[in-house]
Amino acid sequence: MTLRPALLALLLAACLAPARAAVFVIGLDGADPGVTGALVKAGRLPNLAALMKDGVTGRLDTLSPLPLSSPSIWTSVATGAGEAKHGITGFVKPGGAWFRSGDRRAPALWNMASARGKSVAAAGWLLTYPAEPVNGVMVSNNYFMAIGTHSAVYPPALSLTTPRAFAFESGAGPALAARLAGVPLPALFPFMPPLGTYDSPDFREHYLLEKLGDYALADEGWARVGEELLERGAYDLFLAYLPGTDRVSHLAWGAYEAGKSGGKVPFAGLVPAYYAYTDALLGRLLARAGKEDTVIVLSDHGFKLREGAAPLTVVSGDHRPGGLFVAKGPELKKGARLAGPLLDRDVAPTVLYLLGLPAARTMDGKLAADIFREGALKARPQEFTDSYPAAAPQGNGENLPFTPQELERLRLSGYLQ
Ligand SMILES: [Zn+2]
Repeated sequence: MTLRPALLALLLAACLAPARAAVFVIGLDGADPGVTGALVKAGRLPNLAALMKDGVTGRLDTLSPLPLSSPSIWTSVATGAGEAKHGITGFVKPGGAWFRSGDRRAPALWNMASARGKSVAAAGWLLTYPAEPVNGVMVSNNYFMAIGTHSAVYPPALSLTTPRAFAFESGAGPALAARLAGVPLPALFPFMPPLGTYDSPDFREHYLLEKLGDYALADEGWARVGEELLERGAYDLFLAYLPGTDRVSHLAWGAYEAGKSGGKVPFAGLVPAYYAYTDALLGRLLARAGKEDTVIVLSDHGFKLREGAAPLTVVSGDHRPGGLFVAKGPELKKGARLAGPLLDRDVAPTVLYLLGLPAARTMDGKLAADIFREGALKARPQEFTDSYPAAAPQGNGENLPFTPQELERLRLSGYLQ
């Protein structure tokens, strides 16, 4: 068989074109910079350690109002806009309904990149339900909710091998929870005591293990979804989000703090074990990143002991300002620590720059110039555009009910009174 000249020229052009480098942005909700630093030093987070060694590490701050709200901060990360501009204040609107993707008043990275012809895969980013039309694929953060709903993915026909009911159907929760908590497989699993007995140690242990199983499986599910998207296609921009570090820290922070100061309390090793578990999931996603790709791993805030909480109260951890920011890439500093913090709103213009796209003058954030190598920005100056088009309208989705589990989680983590 001989190749026709036109085809040959096409093939040759494809070989000579520079390899298309991608940008990976992976969010670890509530991953505390202090815990991360200590565990990296102890050799327990090999994947984050490798990123830090080859990249640049700093702190992520926010100007969103207190109390720190994850949906607000992650939306600032994605839009380059502050809360006053993007309008997402939390999970639930003042009127009592869930915030939805269409409530966001500023275009997000997946909208902006799509508008400029870049390909996008986004998995689990907060408040992306109903899934938005993108130049690629989106799996909204409600994908694993245990109710039948359409609009969880884009394109609507997208079919994933990780089922919607993965976390609920796999039955692997108890064993996974017991392994992470370092306890024998609980005999009473699943266990639901009468409400109002939150303070009994038995209740706490069973409650914590049951939740831990759910959270760990949800993160495993998100890792599988991310792996599958990356196996099926190549994207200019890949975004993923793992919620578990935040959820587990709310429950086990008191035990972690007590363990650090030498106390022998149950679950003292759980927060570190969960970080190690998350690092392994991160490693599976990053195994799909090429040498020329840029990787950003970040968190929205850190954690502290809840005021007045004892090591054994059910919810003992609260958000504290200051998240993690780690980035590695061909244009970035290597093995560097940033002197000052980045703002959440600086991430989007920085990712746009890395994609070769202009920042919008309407953004509140600016390029995080400090993370770049000497001369990198001079060699390729930042470009600007007046604005990006508003996000394309989403499907209507369904009015998601508030399940008792979701309400309980929002209440325990301080989002609802
Ligand atoms: Zn939280």
